[in-house]
Amino acid sequence: MSQWDDGISKPDDPQWKQAVQLLKDSQRVAVFTGAGISAESGIATFRDEGGFWLRFPPDEFANWKGLMQVALLHPARMAEFLVAILEPVAQAEPNPGHRAIAELERFRQVTVITQNIDRLHQDAGSRMVHEIHGTLFEVVSLVARRHVRSVSRSDLREIVEKLRHLESAKWTSLAVMEAVQPIFGAGQDGFHRPNLVLFGDAMAEPAWSLAQQAVKDCDVLITVGTSGTVYPAALLVDQARAQGIATIVIDPETSGGDVWLRGNAADLLPKLVQELESP
Ligand code: NAD
Repeated sequence: MSQWDDGISKPDDPQWKQAVQLLKDSQRVAVFTGAGISAESGIATFRDEGGFWLRFPPDEFANWKGLMQVALLHPARMAEFLVAILEPVAQAEPNPGHRAIAELERFRQVTVITQNIDRLHQDAGSRMVHEIHGTLFEVVSLVARRHVRSVSRSDLREIVEKLRHLESAKWTSLAVMEAVQPIFGAGQDGFHRPNLVLFGDAMAEPAWSLAQQAVKDCDVLITVGTSGTVYPAALLVDQARAQGIATIVIDPETSGGDVWLRGNAADLLPKLVQELESP
């Protein structure tokens, strides 16, 4: 790929021009996002940041059984994990990358497929968003995933405040469970939890089926800020390529696609979408 010395894609780069042309020739665009799109909103990706999965091993922290055991046996650890997950999301706002994707709807029919659980695409104004790994903003019953309640960003902030408050008090399972009760714990209808897809869970429906359909129907697939290592989500890219759909990758590190625009989503996406202003 042709780039300038800093390795960041620029508007007079041939790959950039190719990406613009692909978008100009398209009608329906699917945008598939991962943790990287939210990095500039202050939510670290699990792989880039000082080893999230090393601090919180997935066999304990990425499945419901493990989480319940940690909550009961190691409440301080559970609280530390919950603060690490909830606090950045509770404080986050959409960044120019999310806003550019919402802006793209002025020019094209856009479907956003996200692996993220942070609701930032909707907050930026995207109207069609499929959250294939679920969301932190809905609470469901533990097994059947029946809707229990919706949760707001300020609800999450309150939970974080309670957990932080506990840091200076005595850690007990009861106190931690009480703090997180709005999203995780026992209620009138049995056990409830956030509507997240953890390791071993089925993908969120109908989001996953709708996402596959959106890829089938699109002319261009833009993938943004995903390492493509989480399956079956990453199969969407294989599906697009197998169908001969043009793919554009926006990511500072992970290459791929027919066109790779190297750089941060918050820098590149607004410039790319701006190109559609001119005929
Ligand atoms: P990942 O952590 O495996 O990969 C992140 C990708 O983002 C990398 O390719 C990295 O180069 C790229 N990146 C980093 N900064 C970027 C930026 N500023 N602009 C564009 N790209 C950038 O993420 P994944 O592939 O999404 O898989 C991780 C799983 O964990 C997913 O299920 C994801 O949803 C979840 N997760 C979600 C959030 C969130 O909701 N914001 C945060 C962390 C992890």
